[in-house]
Amino acid sequence: MTTSSARQIVPASGMGLYVHVPFCKTKCPYCDFNTYQGIENLMEPFLPALTAEIGCWGETLAHPAVNSVFFGGGTPSYLPPGHIEQILAAIQTSFQVDPGAEITIEANPGDLDAAACAGILGQGVNRLSIGVQSLDNGLLNLLGRHHQASEAVQAFQTARQAGFDNVNLDLMYGLPNQSMDQWRQTLDDLIALAPEHISLYALTLEEGTPMHRWVAEGKIPEPDPDLAADMYQYARESLAAAGYHHYEISNWSLPGRACGHNLVYWENGPYLGVGPGAHSRLGDYRFWTVLSPRDYLSKTSAWADVGAQPADELAEPVLQGVSTLGGWEHIGLETTCSETMFLGLRLLDGLDLTSASTVAGVDLAKKFQAPIQECIQLGLLEQDGDCLRLTESAYLIANQAFTRFME
Ligand code: SF4
Repeated sequence: MTTSSARQIVPASGMGLYVHVPFCKTKCPYCDFNTYQGIENLMEPFLPALTAEIGCWGETLAHPAVNSVFFGGGTPSYLPPGHIEQILAAIQTSFQVDPGAEITIEANPGDLDAAACAGILGQGVNRLSIGVQSLDNGLLNLLGRHHQASEAVQAFQTARQAGFDNVNLDLMYGLPNQSMDQWRQTLDDLIALAPEHISLYALTLEEGTPMHRWVAEGKIPEPDPDLAADMYQYARESLAAAGYHHYEISNWSLPGRACGHNLVYWENGPYLGVGPGAHSRLGDYRFWTVLSPRDYLSKTSAWADVGAQPADELAEPVLQGVSTLGGWEHIGLETTCSETMFLGLRLLDGLDLTSASTVAGVDLAKKFQAPIQECIQLGLLEQDGDCLRLTESAYLIANQAFTRFME
């Protein structure tokens, strides 16, 4: 069943597994993720399709080790009761899941009553990421969220009572009409809950979304980037005072509670994504599943009908046989070096140039000597021995450094 060469596609140290759930109760007006409202009729056929895809990947990759599982979307907590359990059972059958694996599910506050929390926890999920977004009802309304601030607080407390001891809370800032006072109040109230992890995202107006259009038509004001920067700075100070470690540009955690799954991305490690539109990075390839949930359903059953075989290496002929894929690209050495730099620099403790060079197989300090020096002169990066890191003043303009490492 398992060949040693097939195992080399995923290193013995394992990979992360991302599960994309494309359903939302309603589509938020700022969201451009691959997620849909009004296709609940696809939830039932989605379950066997997803478990079939998981089984096929398990065969193809010869049942490799998995260290983290992340249910994202979309709204995974919107799936009918029992679906997460069946998906996790398929994952356990198809992969060697580390008994200590971090298993996260994204959830909306409205989905988290006592029964739901107990059910999710009982199914093996050990980390919860709740989309709070704001604790101001007016802003929640603007964001098209269907929960009230009090429901978000209640959802967190319900999760705690159910036994979740590893919870992330997501907030958004830099919103139209959001004042500094509102932000202070929301953040202070959030910190008072003492979650293990907090993610803060500035609103980005994505083209094609209703909110982008509302701003263009003058129906709501454009977010003020200077105010957003002040909000970020306030958050940095408040969270530091509350004992949170700022470990990634948008992420803070209590000691030892960084998100293990997302660290795989930032450390340019191997991961497999399943579900419509999910991205993967394995071997020398990046590939992605078809976007359309309907296409996904037919393509997964086509793959399952043909059957999957263990692959000796992940090369074009293997990817061509995976009917669920929407595309792929070969990742050359140049891309690997660039990604190692700009993904690793997102981690604020810095990039260890020696160990990153060992992983990339290239002396990165030598290869990127010119852009490193340029970034240091511009005040974007600082170097301490082998450790290269963003300067604090560069956290919100980090792309100015990252683009200098791109091909
Ligand atoms: S709940 Fe999340 S994934 Fe769904 S539409 Fe809103 S922002 Fe997008």
